Amino acid sequence: MKSLTQSAEQFHALTEGQCRPQNAALTFMVSQDIRALDQYFPIVNMLSESQTEAFHQLIRQVAEHPHFDLRLIGKNKTDLTHQTPNVVRYLIAGHLAEVFFFRQNLLARFLHTPRHFQIYVTPEAFQLDGGVSGGCYSPSRQSIQLVMSRLFEGFNGTKPGVCPFLHELGHMLDHFDAGSGSMGRSEGLYPGLSPRDGEWFNPRARELFIAGKRIELDRYRMRQTGDVSHPMPIGHPYVFQNDGEFLAGYLEMFFRNPHYFAAQNPDLYAAYCELFGYDPRNAWTEDFPHYVNANRSFYLSGQTPSKTRLTIPKL
Ligand SMILES: [Zn+2]
Repeated sequence: MKSLTQSAEQFHALTEGQCRPQNAALTFMVSQDIRALDQYFPIVNMLSESQTEAFHQLIRQVAEHPHFDLRLIGKNKTDLTHQTPNVVRYLIAGHLAEVFFFRQNLLARFLHTPRHFQIYVTPEAFQLDGGVSGGCYSPSRQSIQLVMSRLFEGFNGTKPGVCPFLHELGHMLDHFDAGSGSMGRSEGLYPGLSPRDGEWFNPRARELFIAGKRIELDRYRMRQTGDVSHPMPIGHPYVFQNDGEFLAGYLEMFFRNPHYFAAQNPDLYAAYCELFGYDPRNAWTEDFPHYVNANRSFYLSGQTPSKTRLTIPKL
């Protein structure tokens, strides 16, 4: 049986020392026991024992799903998929299971045809293969592209923190068209929000999303005019650039600072609860504070927020 040290060495060799997974991840590598990964998924805090078992089962199903297409890419675009550490596969599968645990029919629709995830051993390998900024969703490849170390970076504290994968998943879901079951263009809508989504369409969620997004955009515009008498938007100006960034940023915040999100904009929060079928506040006694603090400090700094191309879908 492999030891923790051997597992750590495997990562070290594969990523030129650039990816250092937590002990929990290494423990999973040794034991193959999914319970070792619970600290990566706050949802387990709100699940009963039998639900937790079902959650672990769902992670396994996704990880082994024939349409869960995970590639590991090395130097000079070398395909290293056969060397993918199992924990990388299970972590990504776990994020999908966590987002869709209460909407498994939507997850089934999402995995109806192959979904692509390209993970890179180093930032150099990522850039050489066309990766942009800290991670991205590539519409032409229909794939998330992310450096492996970024899967672990928010998990060194006592609670889960930043999660670039969730951000990129927001982009991917924006491009996913539940109606046709295929990847399309960005429309600024999660699956379930478009009337064209057929049986997956959730009219209540759409109504709340439109109302809530309008509130965010109005608050952002107030700040642009220098009016600070209204509440500030939840998200950073970065996510007000366009509809795609809005979906990516707010998805991550829904799963990381649900209390602040809900208090600032109950309509928008309710749209997410409708869409994903649960309220993550039950999984967090208090928010992961980083985004809340960083975003608030921007709006309190007196800087003028940059131009926005956000649009509001028609009712
Ligand atoms: Zn983004």
